[in-house]
Amino acid sequence: MFSFNMYLHSEGFMLRFARILMCMTVIEHINQAKDTLVSFEILPPLKGKGIAAIYEHLDPLMEFKPAYINVTYHRSEHIFKKNADGSFEKVVIRKRPGTEAICASIMNRYNVDTVPHLICGGFSVQDTEDALLTLSYLGIDNVLVIRGDAAKNETAFEPDPRGHKYAIDLLKQIINLNNGVYLEEELKSTNKTKFSVGVAGYPEKHFEAPNMQTDLLYLKQKVDAGADYIVTQMFFDNKKFFAFEKQCREIGITVPIIPGLKPVTTKKQLMVIPRTFYVDIPSELSNEILKCRDDSEVEKIGTEWLLTQSKELKAAGVPVLHYYTLGKPHVVVNVVKEL
Ligand SMILES: Cc1cc2nc3c(=O)[nH]c(=O)nc-3n(C[C@H](O)[C@H](O)[C@H](O)COP(=O)(O)OP(=O)(O)OC[C@H]3O[C@@H](n4cnc5c(N)ncnc54)[C@H](O)[C@@H]3O)c2cc1C
Repeated sequence: MFSFNMYLHSEGFMLRFARILMCMTVIEHINQAKDTLVSFEILPPLKGKGIAAIYEHLDPLMEFKPAYINVTYHRSEHIFKKNADGSFEKVVIRKRPGTEAICASIMNRYNVDTVPHLICGGFSVQDTEDALLTLSYLGIDNVLVIRGDAAKNETAFEPDPRGHKYAIDLLKQIINLNNGVYLEEELKSTNKTKFSVGVAGYPEKHFEAPNMQTDLLYLKQKVDAGADYIVTQMFFDNKKFFAFEKQCREIGITVPIIPGLKPVTTKKQLMVIPRTFYVDIPSELSNEILKCRDDSEVEKIGTEWLLTQSKELKAAGVPVLHYYTLGKPHVVVNVVKEL
């Protein structure tokens, strides 16, 4: 019979124990690192695909020992479904559910820390508290706090009537929970969560902000409210990142600033990326891409560009190189192996 004592000495127990010991927050990883770290960001699979799609995506990336893996959050959408009688019905669908569970699965499979994204959109404050408690019970003490964009049927972002309007409001809820303050204030002797929180920053300004100074002011407010670090929107010109970093330091933001990096791999992205993310593609890069005969040539140019960006940022001493891998892990592999 397999006794509990035997279990305590088994490999399974040791592995699980090791997992508990190594659970670290992003800021702990940064503080303990002697060199620039790497981290990867992935999307949950489309509903119907299964978790194997995530493992196939991550397997080749894990040999580079990322400090942590981010998993994005995707809110539900309203669509209008046509019925047999010709009428339309409003239905809610969620194409990429499962962020929290995917984080737990990745931790279990690869023994690596994970950072789920948590958004304001579509969440009431109560839903948010429940999601945070789920994460805390799973041993996930990292979270990237994001407002979220407008839903497909909205012209501008609309918060849940009982939810948060800005990322800072969600951040404050987490800081409260870290201090043992729950929504039900009458709860006594509460457990204090220990979330390390990251927030988003925009080297080329958030598209809704009237100007860079105002955007930076709101970013500083997020940091002053308790954010431990900033992860930037993707950029393709390092000068923009360095200028942003300088402006942040000048207004007293001292937390680590992590550059977000993405490869360009198709000609179509020359239009899609600026339109979707409100960032510029430098003419040196777009001119080279326009000369390409097909997307395999674009991928080569995009890979070289990303490698040059990464090397320069690493030489400048950034804490982490954060790669948006978005369906193209092999491109990121080809970059990171050269660093
Ligand atoms: C690293 C990164 C990861 C992302 N991950 C996801 C994801 O997983 N899922 C997803 O749906 N989206 C994601 N996004 C996109 C994000 O949701 C959008 O960029 C969104 O429009 C803004 O989010 P935020 O957290 O920066 O918002 P906020 O910080 O709330 O800022 C939004 C806008 O409001 C302004 N503002 C901020 N505070 C105030 C205030 N107190 N009063 C008035 N104005 C204010 C800001 O200047 C800005 O223009 C990500 C973006 C980045 C950069």
